[in-house]
Amino acid sequence: MSSAVLPVTGRPYRRFSRLVAAVLVLLLHFLPPAFAAAPAAVGRCVGVSDGDTVTLLMEGGPEKVRLYGIDAPEKVQPFGQKAKQYASSIVYGREALLERLGTDRYGRTIGRVAVGGRSLNEEMLRAGLAWHYRAYSNDPRLAALESEARRARRGLWADPAPVPPWSFRREKRLAGSGRFSQPPSLPSNVRSSSLEPYRGNTASHLFHKAGCRNFDAPNCTAGFGSRASAIAAGYRPCRICRP
Ligand SMILES: [Zn+2]
Repeated sequence: MSSAVLPVTGRPYRRFSRLVAAVLVLLLHFLPPAFAAAPAAVGRCVGVSDGDTVTLLMEGGPEKVRLYGIDAPEKVQPFGQKAKQYASSIVYGREALLERLGTDRYGRTIGRVAVGGRSLNEEMLRAGLAWHYRAYSNDPRLAALESEARRARRGLWADPAPVPPWSFRREKRLAGSGRFSQPPSLPSNVRSSSLEPYRGNTASHLFHKAGCRNFDAPNCTAGFGSRASAIAAGYRPCRICRP
């Protein structure tokens, strides 16, 4: 009766499902072990360059690791130092598990680093001290951690318009090509006021135009040729001189 009502459970189907099961067992048997678990190794963290790059002392010697899927602010950007300090507080001097995923164009290992079961890559995102590096990762888990930190305005997300590190590096490359052509003999104040009419305060991250009473403040050392490049570098306009 059952085979008449549900013909799909009949004998030909049972034979077919046994065949599928046999093929699956064979497949699992012959899959390389790398498929089941990525190779991981243990090393001690002996250096933290910034929020996304650490050095681990592995069996073969020191190995520089660029953390997969994240991009932390550069050291001169707002929250750059904080990101470095936070990464250090988690991993520096400790035993870490390294999962190697590849090598970048500077010869650094790209990988996941875990300390005591915590993923450093993920902790940086969770704390709002790194961006999900979308150009090189489409990991939905990393994307979710970034959105969560953004919503909570944690870390660098306290700033309504933080500059992504990749934009900052690009801006710096463009500005750098022009900076080398400046005559080095000019006194710094002349050079700054004539060629760099804006100056950013590296402590407050505000920028001023020439003539502002804060333009010559001791920390006002980051020169900018335009308002746009100051903003792109993560500086906000001063409320007194309104540059
Ligand atoms: Zn000002």
